[in-house]
Amino acid sequence: MEQLDIVRIPIFPLGMINAHLILGSDSKILVDSGVPGSEEKIGRSLSRLGLSFKDIDLIVVTHAHADHAGSAGKLQQLCAAPILAHRGDLAYFQQEKAMTYCATGWFGRLLLKSGMPLRPYDQFTPDILLKDQEVFDLSEFGISGVVFSTPGHTQGSISITLSDKRALVGDLVASGIFLGGIMLTGKARQPPFEENPVEVARQLLHLLDKGQETFYLGHGGPLPAREVRRYAERILGEGKVR
Ligand SMILES: [Zn+2]
Ligand SMILES: [Zn+2]
Repeated sequence: MEQLDIVRIPIFPLGMINAHLILGSDSKILVDSGVPGSEEKIGRSLSRLGLSFKDIDLIVVTHAHADHAGSAGKLQQLCAAPILAHRGDLAYFQQEKAMTYCATGWFGRLLLKSGMPLRPYDQFTPDILLKDQEVFDLSEFGISGVVFSTPGHTQGSISITLSDKRALVGDLVASGIFLGGIMLTGKARQPPFEENPVEVARQLLHLLDKGQETFYLGHGGPLPAREVRRYAERILGEGKVR
């Protein structure tokens, strides 16, 4: 099996907001783009790896929240790489509709207070639009894995699973408890914003049933399967629906 690396790109420090880079032997996929204005930070992370924007083969945007899609329009131009995302969030990528944000805790409230999530970002149109339950094979871009719809966080949320049983799930789950200036990232918690926790928990259990072992997240992480299962089962047990 091909050796794949997943490198975290810190958009905010302490894992508060992450983008990721999937590195194959001959291909590079950027997963998420950070808040608006993150392109320079991402450029610096790439150059530390001896890479430049032009080395990126594909940009996957897991969903339309501003902390994931905020710099995608800029990066689409800088990288000259296609963007892959899901049709369910298209109206938000194109800034035709304003996203509604349901804060789940202190970090979400803090972000909302900053006004950042509600600031419009450069609109963009994904080059590859997944629809419904479509599964996209990343081998076309040299990576042994797939991208598919995992709705619930937003309608158009997507996840990536790699053949080595690692999954990049955007905001289906988060981790991190801020204590004394240190982020403890081992414990699963709700992401800063979430539309339908029960639907998300079902998607997580589905990923676990397919054998995913490690989950890479937009906030905190990575988390092992057992912690994700504990979290998903608790959410389903509580029946949290907004
Ligand atoms: Zn989100
Ligand atoms: Zn997020």
